[in-house]
Amino acid sequence: MKKSTIIDEVFQKSIEEEIVKREEAYRDLVENSPDAVLIASGDDILFINETGAKLFGAATKEKIENTKIADRIHPDYYDYINERQEIIDGGEATDFLEYKLIRLDGTIFEAEVKGIPTIFQNKPARHIIIRDITARKKTLELLLNAEKLNVAGQLAAGIAHEVRNPLTAIKGFLKLMESQLIDQKSYFDIIQSEINRIELILSELLVLSKPQVLKFEPVHLHTLVEEVKTLIDTQAIMKNIHIQFINDFGNLIINGDKNQLKQVVINFLKNSIEAMPDGGIITIEIKKHGSNHVKMLFKDTGCGMPRHVLKRIGEPFFTTKESGSGLGIMNSKQIVQNHHGTVHFWSDEKGTIIEVILPIN
Ligand code: ADP
Ligand code: MG
Repeated sequence: MKKSTIIDEVFQKSIEEEIVKREEAYRDLVENSPDAVLIASGDDILFINETGAKLFGAATKEKIENTKIADRIHPDYYDYINERQEIIDGGEATDFLEYKLIRLDGTIFEAEVKGIPTIFQNKPARHIIIRDITARKKTLELLLNAEKLNVAGQLAAGIAHEVRNPLTAIKGFLKLMESQLIDQKSYFDIIQSEINRIELILSELLVLSKPQVLKFEPVHLHTLVEEVKTLIDTQAIMKNIHIQFINDFGNLIINGDKNQLKQVVINFLKNSIEAMPDGGIITIEIKKHGSNHVKMLFKDTGCGMPRHVLKRIGEPFFTTKESGSGLGIMNSKQIVQNHHGTVHFWSDEKGTIIEVILPIN
């Protein structure tokens, strides 16, 4: 009896020593990690490494260790944090997700954050890896602007054509008016409606060339699609392409950046048009998806993509077109992600389907 107690004690001690040793090794590993790492439990920051302290603009690690997780995260992301905290507490790691974080001086920066369950000081805790993505975002912004100019440039040709037709009508009627100045109300009505159309199309063009600053506001999804359709329709008709729009959802309002969402629709429609040199049908569908998401489908009857192309779309500069930029899909995916949505692609020789899911509200 007695003997076994001693053995137990020795055994217990060696386990404790082992735990201390492991904890030291773990601390070493974290301390020297090139990534910013912090260890948290509940809302408490238990530990942060040098890289992490620097990232948050703290002179010493203690300055961060005495603050709460919630102090370091932009309030917009609290809901995500709670959800992800539960996943980690349940014993699973989370994938990298983009957050807005707050430095000690209150400035905000963007970072990618991943959480892994761990044991710290004998208790379950979260090992959190933080990567600063400010530089990457800057590059992406430059790319987005490049693509925007590209799209605007290509559309400009179509738009010039579009603007010339109503202008010809206006000029003709004005000529007629020179000789018959009075009682020509019907001519005036036509002039009015043609001028409105020019204004509409020119304003779309202007929207496209505006700089990229995300501005979230209520967006009427149906109106947005109709507006883009107006812009693209002439180009489509010239190529014998019919664009149909099915919406089961009324004029749903979502929160988003109108210009950027328009850009997504334009990019997908342009790709579909380019995939149908001999004409075809594009279907845009808006459907409910669960209780708080909307699903937008873009279907075309174009050439489709073989598997090796499908696998690579969205890589910057990946294009199969002679004068393509290879930025459209990357750009669109990024915008949808900025709206906390997802994009999926299906394609075969009968055509392509793109599904965009966005949160409502
Ligand atoms: P770009 O249009 O400038 O080539 P994108 O990023 O918009 O760049 O598209 C990348 C590639 O994906 C295209 O070159 C094309 O091969 C393919 N693709 C995209 N959309 C479609 C589509 N609807 N049908 C067929 N192929 C498509
Ligand atoms: Mg494209």
